[in-house]
Amino acid sequence: MTTIIDGKLCAKKILDDLKQKTKKLQKKPALAVILANDDASSKVYVASKEKHSLDLGFDSCVYRFDKSITQGELIKLIHELNENPNINGILVQLPLFKHLNSQEIIELINPKKDVDGFHPINVGKLNCGLEPYAICCTPKGIIKLLKEYKINLTGKNAIVIGRSNIVGKPTATLLTNENATVTLAHSKTKNLKELTKNADIIISATGVAKLIKADMVKKGAVVIDVGINKQANGKLIGDVDFEKVKNIASYITPVPGGVGPMTIACLMENTYELFLAQNKGII
Ligand code: NAD
Repeated sequence: MTTIIDGKLCAKKILDDLKQKTKKLQKKPALAVILANDDASSKVYVASKEKHSLDLGFDSCVYRFDKSITQGELIKLIHELNENPNINGILVQLPLFKHLNSQEIIELINPKKDVDGFHPINVGKLNCGLEPYAICCTPKGIIKLLKEYKINLTGKNAIVIGRSNIVGKPTATLLTNENATVTLAHSKTKNLKELTKNADIIISATGVAKLIKADMVKKGAVVIDVGINKQANGKLIGDVDFEKVKNIASYITPVPGGVGPMTIACLMENTYELFLAQNKGII
């Protein structure tokens, strides 16, 4: 029988726990979010981050900019937030307006406040098997989901499809650190089906609707769908042909309600953990 992995429930457990812990604090964790683009999805994501922060009792401040924002102004803001002892996490919603250099901005964030785990120091620590100040939220959420459902990773053949810095690569690294044998596939990979057919765990993060078909999945495989694809009717679907693949997989995440809620829960957890690290010995 196939188990549909309930990301909403797993995320709720994390959020409920954080809410209880936050109630006991005298000082509150604080997240600063910078939105400097016109993208409709980004606006929705930022509003959701703000809402979740406030629901947990965190302090939240969102800096919204129009196209007139300059690289220099953004750099100044990052320096101010780095220096501000009342801000624990800094998140720059990507992508930024095209005229802005996002990599320069990310590298200016104090790694100890890099709540998304995108700073090269945090990425480097992850790659070295060291503990980063924060781990990228979506990959962290994926591993938490697998652990919540007690899915053993040791020695398993895992394939991650998609090699972005925010999902694919860090997910492959985390799986490797968990002793899986990992293949990292991407748009130039040949014979994807041969590789997925051999996998015990398939994690797809491409943004290609229904890329993963039933005949690409080994019976009993675990299938994690990171993709978010908006259809013409406004409905969201993943990278996986869910209705057909769910009859073959042992575990599968739905879209929506799978990885998405875990990403936001892990962002909140990262904010809380950065707050604790910055207030060691004080609270
Ligand atoms: P990206 O565009 O940066 O990377 C996509 C990757 O997919 C690339 O590495 C590319 O090589 C690969 N790819 C594209 N077409 C392919 C194909 N036909 N075969 C094999 N590989 C192919 O995207 P991203 O930021 O990594 O996001 C990937 C997807 O995950 C998107 O749909 C995004 O919306 C979604 N996403 C979801 C969450 C969440 O919380 N659920 C978080 C981040 C991203």
